[in-house]
Amino acid sequence: MTEKMKNKEIPYKIYLSEDELPAQYYNVRADMKTKPAPLLNPETLRPLKAEELEPIFCRELVRQELDNDTKFIDIPQKIQDFYRMYRPSPLVRAYCLEEKLETPAKIYYKFEGNNTSGSHKLNSAIAQAYYAKKQGLKGVTTETGAGQWGTALSMACAYFGLDLKVFMVRVSYEQKPFRREVMRTYGASVTPSPSEETAVGRKILAEHPGTGGSLGCAISEAVEVATQSEGYRYVLGSVLNQVLLHQTVIGLETKTALDKYGIKPDMIIGCAGGGSNLGGLISPFAGEKLRGEADYDIVAVEPESCPSFTRGRFAYDFCDTGMICPLAKMYTLGSGFIPSPDHAGGLRFHGMSTILSQLYHDGLMRAVSVGQTEVFAAAEEFARVEGILPAPESAHAIKVAIDEAKKCKETGEEKTIVFGLTGTGYFDMTAYQKFNDGAMTDHVPTDDELLAGFSKLPVVE
Ligand SMILES: *Cc1c(COP(=O)(O)O)cnc(C)c1O
Repeated sequence: MTEKMKNKEIPYKIYLSEDELPAQYYNVRADMKTKPAPLLNPETLRPLKAEELEPIFCRELVRQELDNDTKFIDIPQKIQDFYRMYRPSPLVRAYCLEEKLETPAKIYYKFEGNNTSGSHKLNSAIAQAYYAKKQGLKGVTTETGAGQWGTALSMACAYFGLDLKVFMVRVSYEQKPFRREVMRTYGASVTPSPSEETAVGRKILAEHPGTGGSLGCAISEAVEVATQSEGYRYVLGSVLNQVLLHQTVIGLETKTALDKYGIKPDMIIGCAGGGSNLGGLISPFAGEKLRGEADYDIVAVEPESCPSFTRGRFAYDFCDTGMICPLAKMYTLGSGFIPSPDHAGGLRFHGMSTILSQLYHDGLMRAVSVGQTEVFAAAEEFARVEGILPAPESAHAIKVAIDEAKKCKETGEEKTIVFGLTGTGYFDMTAYQKFNDGAMTDHVPTDDELLAGFSKLPVVE
């Protein structure tokens, strides 16, 4: 037992009872003075209306997407029931890591890896599958990058008896055969993207033969199939307002658990790909900040190889490579941006949630970027003392939490740090192997490479 644990009133794991679980999602947009900019129709450049989105997305999800005003949205009982199979997720006091780092900082992490899909993505997957089923749809299509979203959605679709077609970024399809197999085990069909199955896939293959694909490209294919198949809609696992909304169960549980012990965090850290886990974790805290009730240092961590916040432009852009999706105003590297194939750790989307982009733009949070070898080093340091083998994405947050705890050691500050541990890394062992073999490199795009992406941003007056 560590010194700190001996005289501690805070348990190693803070769990909530079932009746403390959230019964409503929290919509942070309701508290934002500057609302996220509306999605635009890529042809007319006018804000999209619900009728225009409904051929692509499920009706109820469109409503959630466009709702900037309702502060709390009821979680349907069937979704709450499913959540009870694997929630609450624990909020863990990282006593062992603190001892290892000899830091006076108090570190907590919210662990979302305790379900078969191994990540937080199931929180939104089950909600989206529920609304699709309620609408009477036959099935849904989607894209997946590293594979966690596809896995989570295949579990959710199996539960509600929906058909699922997944376009999986080709590099991941090849690097992660077991992810693919989990999806098939839950009944989904999985196609490597870009594929010959869609017009947009054939076009991308003609322009970039042998490409490993990108999320933006897989999105285009999934949308094409959804809009051309009767009874199907497209669903997305990150970036969208609705996804952030569902992920607020992470932040709401965290807040309730901290309040239970009178703990007030100084810093809240999360990794940022499209922004869903971070948005979900910070929403209730950002809400307090927006209402002037409290202050927190909120930090987004992104890879140096895909630096949307720290080096991107705040501009309207396409969410997909095929440029058929709505335009979103966000921090972006350009929809043609494809991260270096050396980049192993997920978080490869070129853009960022419009909600987080606005909060960042308004100075309510900050962002840092980190290199992948230092991220894997932090992942292993963490795994060796806290036991959990983290997903490489999650390890971005670990890296910055450790850095901050080390700073506290120097200054003697007893900061309370909370970070999101979004998932486990069992399917990422090819990347860990590369790191362990000393074969991992750090790719940082040059300014010229980024300029090439910015030059293709759509012109929106
Ligand atoms: C998908 C994923 C992320 C990044 O996605 P966000 O939408 O930014 O949260 C982070 N961690 C894990 C484990 C993931 O599966």
